[in-house]
Amino acid sequence: MPISKPYISSIIFFANCHTIKLLNGAIAYFYSRMSKPYTLKKSLGQHFLHDENMCKKIVAQIDYTTGKKILEIGPGGGAISKYLIDIDGIEYKAIEIDEEKYHYLESLYPAIKGKIILQDVLQASLPYDTNFSVIGNFPYNISSPIMFKMLEWESQVDEVIGMFQKEVAERIAAGPGSKVYGILSVLTQTYFDVTYLFDVPPSCFNPPPKVMSGVLRFVTKNNPHQIDQFKKFKMLVKAAFGQRRKTLRNALRSFVSPVALTDPLMDKRAEQLSVADFVYLYKTFL
Ligand code: SAM
Repeated sequence: MPISKPYISSIIFFANCHTIKLLNGAIAYFYSRMSKPYTLKKSLGQHFLHDENMCKKIVAQIDYTTGKKILEIGPGGGAISKYLIDIDGIEYKAIEIDEEKYHYLESLYPAIKGKIILQDVLQASLPYDTNFSVIGNFPYNISSPIMFKMLEWESQVDEVIGMFQKEVAERIAAGPGSKVYGILSVLTQTYFDVTYLFDVPPSCFNPPPKVMSGVLRFVTKNNPHQIDQFKKFKMLVKAAFGQRRKTLRNALRSFVSPVALTDPLMDKRAEQLSVADFVYLYKTFL
């Protein structure tokens, strides 16, 4: 039986539709792979910077004298890293916990190959034998532990350029008399001069965080206070702020000797004491 012309036309029409559909599917698949080559993990604080001007502004803050060793914490999708690896004369390393991002960066940036340590930064040992600087858009869920890591490494850390939740950044940079001055402010400022550099709005990130962010600079003070037992010093500061509304005489009653309680500083509250006052208490009474 001869096949009619309209029948052939409709077969061609449906075949074309099917091909177009297949093509569309393939294009959508490749587009989605290109626009999202990895997953963003909330549990790892993955808010990636996508504002290139902001990335450059952050990278520009660090001191890049020749021979400088730089450690980036949490390179993620490489927003900051891609600028860092282009700087001549510096040594670059990064620590990233997420294997997916590790492989992504190694395949996308040949210059980064072999420079990423796939590890939890909180478990890491010193990345260099000599002094180095740290940079990072830190995962907000572990910003305080990262700060304690910086304090653990303080003898080798020259400078830190770090992004935090604005509220945490303000706490770290706060001075005596401020409502947000606390344990992290005192401990950090014992070892580093801290400067609040600038705000970073949520629109600079993907996905945007719910809060404003802030970038801090820490510059080493080269341990002028010579705290011999950091653990003990930390306990003193923690005890003092543990009851921040009380005078130190009450807050530290079970922590120091009766003689120490007669010191005039004991009439004050923890938030009124400078770093030097805390160092004085530590050195005189502990
Ligand atoms: N630097 C990238 C940027 O600015 O777009 C990513 C920043 S994102 C806020 C934080 C990065 O830290 C993520 O890549 C995350 O996987 C990584 N990260 C989270 N916890 C970590 C840990 N304990 N040790 C090392 N990296 C960690």
